[in-house]
Amino acid sequence: MNLTSDTKVAEMTIAAFEDMKRQMPISTHAAYNEMLQSVGNRISQQVFWDMPLAEWEFVVFDQNEVNAFAMPGGKVGIFTGLFQIVKTEDELASVVAHEIAHVTARHTHERISQQMVIGAGGQLVGIAAAVTGAGVAGLGGGSYINMTPMIMGLYGIGTGQAAQAWDQKKEAEADHIGIMYMAKAGYDPNAAITVMERMVELEGGMGGNNYNSTHPSSMDRLNALHSYLEDALAEYEKSKEFFY
Ligand SMILES: [Zn+2]
Repeated sequence: MNLTSDTKVAEMTIAAFEDMKRQMPISTHAAYNEMLQSVGNRISQQVFWDMPLAEWEFVVFDQNEVNAFAMPGGKVGIFTGLFQIVKTEDELASVVAHEIAHVTARHTHERISQQMVIGAGGQLVGIAAAVTGAGVAGLGGGSYINMTPMIMGLYGIGTGQAAQAWDQKKEAEADHIGIMYMAKAGYDPNAAITVMERMVELEGGMGGNNYNSTHPSSMDRLNALHSYLEDALAEYEKSKEFFY
C-alpha cells in the first residue's frame, strides 16, 4: 500500500519524535548520554544499509521506566529507568540493537500500516493527503493531521498504557537479529544474556510490569538467546579486527 511507503513512515516517525522531545523531559545525565551516543554510532553503522532513510538520533528521556524504542526514521529513545537493568555499554547495545531489529524486520512498519488503515477508517484519503502533502511536520499548512498521538500510542509512550505486545515470533526474531547487530558492532553478545537475566529477575520481583507485557516471556527469550550465542560470538570475534 503506497500510503505506508517507507519514506512516509520514516517522515511520520521523525515528526513524532520531534514532538516527543518537546513533550517529555530529556536527561542531561552525562554518562548515560555518552554511553548511548557511542552505542548509537556503532550500531547505526552496522544497520546503515538496512535503514537507508534513517536520520539517526539517540535520546535519553528522563523517565523512570524500563523501556526503549526505535523508529523507522532512525530515531531511538531510551528511558533512564532502563539503567536499572543496563550497566555497561555492551548491555545498552543489546537493548538498542534489539529495538532497531524490530524496525529492520519490518515489525514496526507493519504495525503502523495496520494502525493507519484501522484508525483512519473512512478518512483514509484525508490522512494520505496529510502525510504526503503537508510534509508531515505541518510545514505545508492546511491539511496537516498530527500523527504523533497515534505513533506514541503504538509505542505505549505517554499514554499511561503499555504498548501492544509483540508476538513471540517477532520477539524472537528481534532478539536474533539484534544479537547479531551488536556482535558485528563489536559488542560482546554475552551482554544480551546478562540483560535478559536481569529482566527475568526484575519481572519476578515486580509480578509483571509494563515492560513484561510488551516483551513477553523473558525466560523463553533467555533460553533462545543462548542458542544464538555461538554464531554471535563468531561475529564478535571477526569484529575485533575492525574495532581493536
Ligand atoms: Zn522487543
